Amino acid sequence: MPQILIATGNPHKVEEIHAIFDMLPSHDRPHVRLVGLSDIPGGLAIPEPHEGELTFEGNAALKARYYSDMSGLPTLADDSGLAVDALGGAPGVLSARYSGLCGPRKVVDPANNMKLMEVMRGVPKELRGARFVCVLALGIPGVAQALEVTRGEFPGRLLLDAECADPGRPELGRGENGFGYDPLLWLDDAGCTSAQLRPEEKNARSHRGAAVRLMAPRIVALVKTGRLG
Ligand code: IMP
Repeated sequence: MPQILIATGNPHKVEEIHAIFDMLPSHDRPHVRLVGLSDIPGGLAIPEPHEGELTFEGNAALKARYYSDMSGLPTLADDSGLAVDALGGAPGVLSARYSGLCGPRKVVDPANNMKLMEVMRGVPKELRGARFVCVLALGIPGVAQALEVTRGEFPGRLLLDAECADPGRPELGRGENGFGYDPLLWLDDAGCTSAQLRPEEKNARSHRGAAVRLMAPRIVALVKTGRLG
C-alpha cells in the first residue's frame, strides 16, 4: 500500500484526515497508509521551510514539494487561515501571526482576535463577511509542481463587539471550543459561532474537511495509475 506523509508534527491532524477518509464511499476512499513526521525516521528533525508565499495555494504547494523532497515520500501539506471580505482577504496567509506576537496559542489567539476586532470596529454587519480557507497540496519527490491542489471554505460573518459574550473583551468572542478565530465567526444557519459547534459538527462543515474530501478521489486516481509508488 502506498504511503503518504502528512506534513505535520501533530498526530491529531493525521488522525483527522484518516477519519475523514474513513467516512467516504468506498470508490472515493484512498487505500494508502498515512504517516506524520513523527512516524518517519528523522521526520521531526526536518527544518521547517519559510512560508513566504502570498497565497494559501502557494504556501501549501511549497510545503508539499519541500517535505516530499526531504522525506522521499508523496506528501500532503496544508495552509489555512481566515479571509475577511472587507479587508480584501486579510489576514489570509498571515492569520497565525496577524498581531505580530509569537508564543503559545492562549497568548497569540486573543492577540490576533483583538487586532481583528479593532480593525473591523465600525464596519456594519452586512459588510462583515469572512471565511476560513484551507488549501491542501499533494507533492511527490523530484516533481517541481504540486500534483494536486484542493481548496475548502467555511463561510460566516465576524461578530460585532456588542454581540460578543463580553462586549468589553471582544477578542473572546463567543464559545469555548475550537481555536484561533473560531469565537469570532458567526454562522447564521447554525445560530452560533464556530467555537460553539461541537467538534464533530465543525469537522462536518469545516474548510479542512472540504479540502480533504475533494483531495480523496484524486489520490484514488493517482494510486490506480501507480504514480504514488
Ligand atoms: P497555519 O497553521 O499556517 O495554516 O495557520 C492557520 C491559522 O489560521 C491559525 O493559527 C488560525 O489563526 C487560523 N485558522 C485556520 N483554521 C482555523 C479554524 O478552523 N478556526 C480558527 N482559526 C483558524
